Order: sequence, then C-alpha cells, then structure tokens
Amino acid sequence: MSDQTPPESVGRDYTIAVLGGDGIGPEVVNAAVRVAVHCAAKYAFSLTLQPALVGGVAYDAVGTPLPSETLQACHRADAVLLGAVGGPKYDSLPPALRPEVGALLPLRKELGLFANLRPARLFPALASASALRADIVGDGLDLLVVRELTGGIYFGSPKGRSADGLSAVDTCTYSRGEIERILHVGFRAARQRSRRLCSVDKANVLESSRFWREICVEISAQYPDVALTHMLVDNCAMQLVRDPRQFDVIVTENMFGDILSDEASMLTGSLGMLPSASLGEASSARGRGTFGMYEPVHGSAPDIAGKGLANPLATIISTAMLFRHSLGEEDAAADIEQAVAAVLEAGLRTADIAPAGIASVGTEAMCEAVIARL
Ligand code: NAD
Repeated sequence: MSDQTPPESVGRDYTIAVLGGDGIGPEVVNAAVRVAVHCAAKYAFSLTLQPALVGGVAYDAVGTPLPSETLQACHRADAVLLGAVGGPKYDSLPPALRPEVGALLPLRKELGLFANLRPARLFPALASASALRADIVGDGLDLLVVRELTGGIYFGSPKGRSADGLSAVDTCTYSRGEIERILHVGFRAARQRSRRLCSVDKANVLESSRFWREICVEISAQYPDVALTHMLVDNCAMQLVRDPRQFDVIVTENMFGDILSDEASMLTGSLGMLPSASLGEASSARGRGTFGMYEPVHGSAPDIAGKGLANPLATIISTAMLFRHSLGEEDAAADIEQAVAAVLEAGLRTADIAPAGIASVGTEAMCEAVIARL
C-alpha cells in the first residue's frame, strides 16, 4: 500500500478497451474493472472504459469474432483488457470464425504485439498448490518468462507439405530487428526486477539460436547493470523443475517460450492465478508506457460460467501489469499485487485454489476482499 498523497491527475487520463469475451471472461473482467476504478480514484488518475465485443458473443451479435469497431476501439486505447474467448458452441465453426483463431490471433497481429510477458508467481500462501515439493518452491516463486510472439518457427516460410505428401517443413527464421526488440524487452524487465536475465536458446544446434546469442551479447553492453546468463532450452526445462528459484527473468524465442511459460505456470498451482501481457512497440496513446493487451492465461471455463465461481485474481493481476507497463502507474500496480497477496494470506480462496475441506468464496467476494485491502 502507498501512503503518499495522490499526485495531480493532470495528463493522467487513460482509455482502456474492455473486451470481456465469452464464458467467465465478462465475470473476471468486471471484477478487474472494479479494482481498476477503485485504484484510479485512490491514485487520482482517470480511466475511460471502452467496452467492445470479441469472440463468440461478437459472432452471435454481428457475425464475426473480431468486429472492426472492436479493433478500432483497441487502436484508440492506451491498453486492452481481455477476458477469454471461445466455448463449445463455436467449436464447429470454420476456423476463421472461431473465437480463438478468428479473434485472438488477428488481435495480436493487428495490434503488433510481439512480446509476451508471463509471470509465474507462487504466492507463499499458496505454496501447497504447486506441482513441486515444498522444499523446492520454498516460501514462494516469482519468475517472468518473456516470449517472442510473432516470429520464429510458427510463422517462418517455407511451411507446409511437399507435393508428393511425403515430407513437411516448418522454418525457424528471425531477423536481427525481431531479436533485438524482444531482447530489449527482456533487459528492461530485468531492470525493473532483480537485474538478472537468462537468455534461453539452442545455440549448440540451431543457427537462429547462435544468431540470437550473438545479438544478446552485443545488446548486453547497453545494460551493464543486468547480469546476463545463457542457457540451452533443454537444460532450462530441467532447471525449472529442479531449482526454479534460480531464475528471475527468462527471455526466449517463440516456440521455446510457448513451452517454457506453460511449464513455469504449472509451478504456481492454478490457472486462475496466472496473468499475462502482450506488448507492442508503440507507446500507449496517453500512458507513460507501451501499448499492450492484458489477459488471464486461462480460457473461458464454460463449466463454471455464469455461476459466480470464477477466480478473478489472474485478471486482477493482469490489470496491475496494465497499470505498470502501459500506463506507468507503478504505485497502483504494486498496490493491487500487495492486496492480492494480503487476501491470500488472510485465507480467502476461490474453489479452484481451495484445499479439500476448506470453504471457498465466489468471484464477487474475492473482488470485494481485494478492494478492501487497497
Ligand atoms: P479453461 O482454462 O477455460 O479451463 C480449464 C479448467 O480450469 C476448467 O475446469 C475451468 O473451470 C478451470 N478454470 C479456468 N479458469 C478458471 C478461473 N479463473 N477460476 C476457476 N477455475 C478456472 O480451458 P479449456 O476448458 O481447455 O477451454 C475452454 C474454452 O476456452 C475453449 O473454447 C478454449 O478454446 C478457450 N480458451 C481461450 C483462451 C483465451 O481466450 N485466451 C485460452 C485458453 C482456452
């Protein structure tokens, strides 16, 4: 909590595009918005919230999962807060109309979001929920995976099957510019934390990784205050379960990051606790940071949608990331994170993080409890 007098709000008037989406998406986003509005009042900045349709609800309303009005609202905003999209009702649609393919991928592409930040934080109060033994996770974990999101083997060409159908190819390609910009994100993130950066590659086998490592060493000269190490991806996968506390910030290319960030997230025990940020290159319109899209890692959880049971903490922590990275409102961001930690310390649990036999609370009560501790 900050006890300082709220600073002047002049010039601190931000617009957030709010995309609830499907299933529990609107429920967790509503909770996060309430926290955001409370914080804005406390820290004397103003928020203009711009709701827009995305995913299955957008398809139902206007026949496309990503209406152009939604994209325009995102372009005009300082940041985007997204819930989740998808659900069984939409699974049989053609791929381009399916919420995940037709909305999430184009959103990232159109908004130029090339850097994915996935913190894996195991709050001490939830240590028993980790997939790892207590002596390995100790009194909590806090690491950040910075993943390149728009290059590498998922996008390189050639890609496809040979004409005779007897072989297939995917190409891992990276330009100097693509590598430099994601490494800068990694170094800057390390600077905001404990100034340790581990760059993960496969430089013993892959040319693209040797190129990556070379550029990483070059760029490190601009960050003499950050301790840089390199690790091969196979070793990193092992070290994450052997001794995860050795890591602070990991920066890596697209496919390695895809796999390692999922592995790291499991160390924290629950999908309902995991936030994420996808950042672009452009500055946010009025914020003092970078334009980005913020969302929980979990999906639309159709099995609990509409029941008031969803854990809103991943989306609330995503909002803290939005305040930090896109608005430059660090005090408000830290306040939210501390309020979440305090709520967990006090023993409040939604059903997904409650040990057997322990009473749980719903979305609304969890949101109220966070606000009460801000
Ligand atoms: P899911 O993450 O929606 O749910 C997996 C399990 O975790 C479910 O049992 C669910 O109840 C639980 N869960 C998830 N979030 C929770 C929360 N906040 N609180 C409490 N419990 C929570 O994954 P799924 O079931 O594989 O996918 C459901 C739909 O979501 C699918 O249509 C999928 O394509 C979509 N999806 C969307 C995104 C996204 O929008 N970014 C991500 C993943 C999945």
